[in-house]
Amino acid sequence: MHTDARKLPNNTVIEGDICIIGAGPSGISIALEWANTPYKIVLLEGGGFDYDDQIQDLYAGKTTGQKYYPLKSARLHYFGGTSNHWAGFCSNFDPIDFEKRDWVPHSGWPIKKEDLDPFYAKAHKYLELGPYDYNAANYEKLDPSLKPLLPDDTVVWNKVWKFSPPTRFGIKYRPDIVNSKNIHLYTYANVVDITANENVSAINEVTVKNFAGKTHTVKAKHFVLCCCTVQNARLLLASNKQAKNGLGNDHDNVGRYFMEHLEIKSAELYLPKVDPMKLYGFSFGVSQMRCELAISKKAQEEHKILNGTASFTPLAVAKVIKPAIQSWNSDDPRKAIDSFLGSLGAAFNSVPQSAQGTNAYELFTRIEQAPNPNSRVTLDTEKDALGVPRAMLHWELTPLEKRSIRKIYELIGQQVGKSGAGRVRLMEYLQDPNDNSWPSFTGGGWHHMGTTRMGEDPKSSVVDPNCTVHGISNLHIGGASNYVTAAAPNPTLTVVAISLRLSDHLKQIVKA
Ligand SMILES: Cc1cc2nc3c(=O)[nH]c(=O)nc-3n(C[C@H](O)[C@H](O)[C@H](O)COP(=O)(O)OP(=O)(O)OC[C@H]3O[C@@H](n4cnc5c(N)ncnc54)[C@H](O)[C@@H]3O)c2cc1C
Repeated sequence: MHTDARKLPNNTVIEGDICIIGAGPSGISIALEWANTPYKIVLLEGGGFDYDDQIQDLYAGKTTGQKYYPLKSARLHYFGGTSNHWAGFCSNFDPIDFEKRDWVPHSGWPIKKEDLDPFYAKAHKYLELGPYDYNAANYEKLDPSLKPLLPDDTVVWNKVWKFSPPTRFGIKYRPDIVNSKNIHLYTYANVVDITANENVSAINEVTVKNFAGKTHTVKAKHFVLCCCTVQNARLLLASNKQAKNGLGNDHDNVGRYFMEHLEIKSAELYLPKVDPMKLYGFSFGVSQMRCELAISKKAQEEHKILNGTASFTPLAVAKVIKPAIQSWNSDDPRKAIDSFLGSLGAAFNSVPQSAQGTNAYELFTRIEQAPNPNSRVTLDTEKDALGVPRAMLHWELTPLEKRSIRKIYELIGQQVGKSGAGRVRLMEYLQDPNDNSWPSFTGGGWHHMGTTRMGEDPKSSVVDPNCTVHGISNLHIGGASNYVTAAAPNPTLTVVAISLRLSDHLKQIVKA
């Protein structure tokens, strides 16, 4: 069922069993898990079915620290959320990503990889990723032309990436949502406040506003916040009528530990002869899988480094690609993505296809950033047009990221050299081991994580292992704001897996 909240009489009170706030991959996948059940699911989406600049402007905010994309264009504020722009790159976390690593401050999830595996498998269906199979050897068996670069994987191994079409949640799942009898989607229903009871142990209702000047109230037994990392933190911090520091923020953790994947060109690989490196190649809309080089658990432990991977681009093409941090330069997400994709396309078109099957490749890093309490989302004094304080992002990196990238390429270089596969040259900015600065082309992957981190201890986390806000029994959070560490893979597969796990937990408590 669908209702445009602008058309409801002012001050309508909407009631349901579960109220999901935000209709991106996280919110939509949770809602669909409840289709055809006796429960009334209220799905609140701030935008409509299409881009609307007035709504999008609610995302605008300042950034400080490490240069970042404009906040207004780094996420999409309408039905389907940022899946309207995502590229579909997916991989799962490694077991080590969940572990407490003594060299990675604030690492250690309260759940293990096995806890997420069944939900990863289920998430594959939502993301149209085919079988949940991340074993490179299985793909090599099916297609012998997929050849690994290195003869053994004790130090450097081949981590599989799978590619979603990419699933646009707002298009693919709109019929299922609007035709459902028990899912009630409200568009133009921007949540501006979450109201708790007097002792802040439960949520009573949320307030919804829109640009038609209407204000409505939504009451439910459970509330699930799925507005993505920056907005989840913003809403909790701004909902400060009953708890002066914001909801779930008694210990000043909400908004902290914001993480991105550092995405940065890092080294060059020279092979003795031309090799299309099919196992590592990617063609948009064609490839269903590829591998990236990753560092083994043992080597990460030995060298005390973060988890990261290296992908390959023909060097002639890579040399003319404009770094994303420079091409994604507009506040308007439509212009930003056109500029980014335009520069990528121009780079590939500028080099003849024949020169792209080459013996020279650029190695490009995707690496987790260490959880850092100073990397954070806070509230500005300036408010958006619906009266909510705007988000401010301070993105801050640490020397561990720089040291880890350098070590990753030293290890890859050693393995490549030792095996006779070729040679690797680190880029200039990685040459000096004492230099912790970052070059101007340092970027992120538009992957927003952290800010409501998961943990057993309310003093150092915001949600418990079931994604319920500590101390607020009916407020739950879906998506990447729950991440304790970021791992190397792009986040959406884990976003959906973690959201499905939350949905399962809700089923147990709602049906009990
Ligand atoms: C250019 C680009 C490329 C990307 N490529 C990849 C990739 O290849 N692989 C990958 O894994 N990830 C990728 N991502 C990241 C991916 O888009 C996100 O991980 C994913 O969309 C997160 O899903 P979500 O549901 O948590 O948040 P979102 O998709 O951001 O959805 C949040 C929803 O909440 C709604 N909302 C927000 N505030 C409110 C409010 N106050 N009231 C009501 N509703 C609200 C929004 O309108 C939106 O619909 C990319 C992102 C970008 C920008």
